[in-house]
Amino acid sequence: MKRRLVVIGNGMAGMRAVEEILVRGGADLFDITVFGDEPYGNYYRTRLGRVLSGEESEADILLNSLHWYQKNTITLHAGVRVERIDKFSQHVFAADGRVVQYDHLIIATGSRPFLPPMAGLYTPSGTIRHGVFTFRTLDDARRMIQFARHKDHLRAAVIGGDSFGLEAVHGLRSCGLEVNVLSGRRVAAILGADRITGLSVRNQPDIDCHMVVVSAGIRPNVDVAVVSGLAVERGIVVDDHLRVMDEEDIYAVGECVQHRGEVYGTVAPLWDQAAVLADHITGSDRSSMYLGTRARS
Ligand SMILES: Cc1cc2nc3c(=O)[nH]c(=O)nc-3n(C[C@H](O)[C@H](O)[C@H](O)COP(=O)(O)OP(=O)(O)OC[C@H]3O[C@@H](n4cnc5c(N)ncnc54)[C@H](O)[C@@H]3O)c2cc1C
Repeated sequence: MKRRLVVIGNGMAGMRAVEEILVRGGADLFDITVFGDEPYGNYYRTRLGRVLSGEESEADILLNSLHWYQKNTITLHAGVRVERIDKFSQHVFAADGRVVQYDHLIIATGSRPFLPPMAGLYTPSGTIRHGVFTFRTLDDARRMIQFARHKDHLRAAVIGGDSFGLEAVHGLRSCGLEVNVLSGRRVAAILGADRITGLSVRNQPDIDCHMVVVSAGIRPNVDVAVVSGLAVERGIVVDDHLRVMDEEDIYAVGECVQHRGEVYGTVAPLWDQAAVLADHITGSDRSSMYLGTRARS
């Protein structure tokens, strides 16, 4: 009889793990169910900058279409967030009321953008104010393009000069905006009452802008693991088989993971992790071990 495999997170790591499992005969071993917070199939997050700049379309960056899930008899709940796991009865509980039992569980919830403290970032009700963006999802790219197209939005500021921030800079310049790049520590406040008018920067004159992109790093997305009582430090703590510490049937993979004290923010480690996880969960190579990934040039 097939075992029930549930995957939380329909991103690059979760689906790479599923692909590796299928390559090892996983379709005969498991009934696979995937929950994904984003309302799409899986896409190359790495190429979002090219969508923002107009160099590629949304269709170009599709990794696994809805047809791929059907073809592999994978049940996909797209746009459905898992809120909690009961590791004793082996169920996941989703925000839409769905409850699904598993024999094996893979957590692949990725990361979320870090928002450094600064005045003017939030509305009084605690939501991120209109005109401030992070750059993590296809929806983020869509919202930025829409905002940048407005005739009165001529200047943008990108806070944080990491490589993903620089992709936002390139993308917004391609949308026709004038773009300033600033280090997060220097920005004291986002200015403007009803709409954004600029940034207040320490020891410098204010900078005029109509939109702000915050690209100041990422943090592992561990909410589900924390509320479910799993081992979490900076990320979800896994062993060399990608098994969550002290759990027999729960694995984790990708940016949500902490392995031997390391958390990662690029795709090379999650490719390595997905292969080892698949070796173990399918039983195809129980000697397989993940020992970390060195930075690749
Ligand atoms: C703009 C940009 C450019 C990048 N460029 C590069 C690059 O050039 N090279 C490189 O190596 N890396 C790059 N990266 C990083 C790379 O995209 C990530 O390392 C990779 O996507 C991480 O995969 P993941 O599956 O761990 O996380 P994600 O891809 O973030 O997937 C996690 C998924 O889980 C979902 N999820 C979270 N919580 C829940 C829940 N409770 N229930 C259901 N679903 C949930 C999320 O919505 C998300 O869809 C880039 C990232 C960005 C944002």
